[in-house]
Amino acid sequence: MIVATKVKLYPNEKQKVLLEKHFGSCRFVYNYFLAKRDEYYLTHKDAEKSSLNYLDTQNMLTELKKQYPWLYEVNAQSLQMSLRFLDNAFKNFFHHNTEHPKFRKKGKNDYFAVPQHIRIKGNRVCFPKFKEGLYFKGSEEKLSEIKEINQIVVTKDAGDYYCSIIYEKEDNAPVKKPLSAENSVGIDLGVEKFATLSDGIAVENPRFVEKVEKRINKLQKQLSRKRKGSKNREKLILKLQRKYRKLRNMREDFLDKVSTAIAKRYDTIIMEDLKVQGMMRNHHVSKSLSDVSFYAFRLKLEWKATKYGKNLILIGRFDPSSKLCSNCGNIKHDLRLSDRIYHCEVCGLIIDRDYNASKNIRKIGLIKVGLVQPESTPVETATSGLRGIYPYRQMSVIEAGSPEASS
Ligand SMILES: [Zn+2]
Repeated sequence: MIVATKVKLYPNEKQKVLLEKHFGSCRFVYNYFLAKRDEYYLTHKDAEKSSLNYLDTQNMLTELKKQYPWLYEVNAQSLQMSLRFLDNAFKNFFHHNTEHPKFRKKGKNDYFAVPQHIRIKGNRVCFPKFKEGLYFKGSEEKLSEIKEINQIVVTKDAGDYYCSIIYEKEDNAPVKKPLSAENSVGIDLGVEKFATLSDGIAVENPRFVEKVEKRINKLQKQLSRKRKGSKNREKLILKLQRKYRKLRNMREDFLDKVSTAIAKRYDTIIMEDLKVQGMMRNHHVSKSLSDVSFYAFRLKLEWKATKYGKNLILIGRFDPSSKLCSNCGNIKHDLRLSDRIYHCEVCGLIIDRDYNASKNIRKIGLIKVGLVQPESTPVETATSGLRGIYPYRQMSVIEAGSPEASS
């Protein structure tokens, strides 16, 4: 299992300069070849070879270094990693319909990766060009046990430096539970409530997020009144970046807690297969927790299901989970987004909209893997006692969400 641990770096002044050179050079190489690849495509559209690949750009990089000798001051492998990142961005664009790669901006996308020759000595992480090591805090004991590090990614965020250490951890994942309808759960993610589970548990959106968001909006307004290039403006920008980081950490923490609680509690978990690119287009739905959080949640849940030996079933995003009556199978075509209560005219069921959806998600998932038959029998429908609004239980573990780890 590949895992990542993030630590905060404390570089000295000399190291800071060298780190900045790495950020700058890697960004330069990325942007330079992004332009080159676009240019090549425009001029070779109809040619047999219509685009540059990773190897082409790698060869061109050798020439570029002769032209700009300052590129020799940074780790050559980090520059190559920039080409890798760019290549992946193009592959995603071509094959997975994501956005066209964007130019990296200073102060916004400051990062570089190191793929080889990394060692942890006590509380220092050493790699090429940083032989004496960068001092870090956090996770020293855990990291000293790592035998081989796959990669590190050094980032700058709101004036602080971080290092994500990516390594292979011995696989002691438990034996996977057999796929079964027993102890299975359907999850509906939403804007009103973060998640609604098919057994009646609801996970509210964390309130602290709203608080930080308010503070961010206030700072944004202050910023718009500050003169460009002034010291005060710069200070405010750093403050704002720190608030954003705080918000990100809070969200991470929240998503971690919810996904862990669910993966521990249920044996088979069913949710919609959310795709990041599909949701990016829906900016207006992102209220307190954005769509991106939903996708991050799905990834976390996937990873944690593996960790705890549980099953995760993903169903299509466009399966009719909201409009379907979870009791009789009737489809209510006139259900509006604003209808919080689902009222079925056929069987008389009155149920919370999200709760109804979560029950359908569970059912659709179980049908998909063949654990449940598609149609409910008329007898089941006739004798069903599912009437009235179901009581909700709150998941207390989530509400206790600690604000954040760092800063
Ligand atoms: Zn019904």
